[in-house]
Amino acid sequence: MPANPDYPELTAGREHWRYLPDPDCLKDRVILVTGAGDGIGRAAAKTFACHGAHVILLGRTREKLEAVFDWITARTDTRPVIVPCDLEALNDEASQALVAAIDGEFGQLHGVLHNASLLGLRVPIAHYDTHQWARVMQVNVNAQFLLTRDLLGLLEASGDASVVFTSSSVGRQGRAYWGAYAVSKFATEGLCQVLADEHEHAGMIRFNSLNPGATRTGMRAAAYPAENPAQVATAESRMDIYLYLFEAASRHVNGAALDARDWPGPTDS
Ligand code: NDP
Repeated sequence: MPANPDYPELTAGREHWRYLPDPDCLKDRVILVTGAGDGIGRAAAKTFACHGAHVILLGRTREKLEAVFDWITARTDTRPVIVPCDLEALNDEASQALVAAIDGEFGQLHGVLHNASLLGLRVPIAHYDTHQWARVMQVNVNAQFLLTRDLLGLLEASGDASVVFTSSSVGRQGRAYWGAYAVSKFATEGLCQVLADEHEHAGMIRFNSLNPGATRTGMRAAAYPAENPAQVATAESRMDIYLYLFEAASRHVNGAALDARDWPGPTDS
């Protein structure tokens, strides 16, 4: 059953899903997606909207965000919002202004998908440039810390919120030449674990990390230029676990490090 007949990629992707959620499983939930203009973030934003969520589209390229916005408003009854924002420049003031804008628009927040990342250089640590290292750490770690810290109040206000940090296999086992990207993903896992432990007892916000696995995007093509993209899974085929982590069925899952490729899904476990 297609989630939305106007989104054929999602319909095709669902053939690979192991969990088929209710079409309205995210109805009226407000979810912030970073890096929503391209790749996995774009697929997630569209998928969430197709399942009823009001999606806050954060990214650095306005035109890409507008294309996602237009797509969503043409095909769903949800209320997306565009937030052009370069996470490389995010600081206390910018983060707090963003939170105030979300508060003014929605008053609460049910989810954050920390998805935007920089790949950075693919060189040995011995040759890693200091400025490039700092850029990757700012986008992949510092920005996630700032946004999460400042959004905690709005997430708690929803009473049932989900924060997902996007990891990578090189963030769980270090690999040569992955440099700052790999280190940033280890830091992401650490941030997720600390938050999950801090909020375990209150039970209002769950924090989990997710490795999407090899997925056909611009970042994947940059990392593996010799690979045939047709042999790599589409972002839409990964969306079952993304939906699961933001809907009520995952309410009990906190502090988990998940992998989209081997996720059994609630019906298989
Ligand atoms: P893409 O490069 O295709 O998309 C990344 C998105 O992040 C883009 O929309 C990009 O914006 C945005 N972004 C990058 N830098 C910034 C910034 N400074 N400020 C705001 N937005 C920014 O990546 P993927 O979709 O492949 O990756 C998504 C996530 O999945 C990442 O966290 C990645 O590490 C992870 N991942 C991906 C895998 C894969 O095989 N694709 C495998 C394992 C993990 P813009 O379009 O304007 O450049």
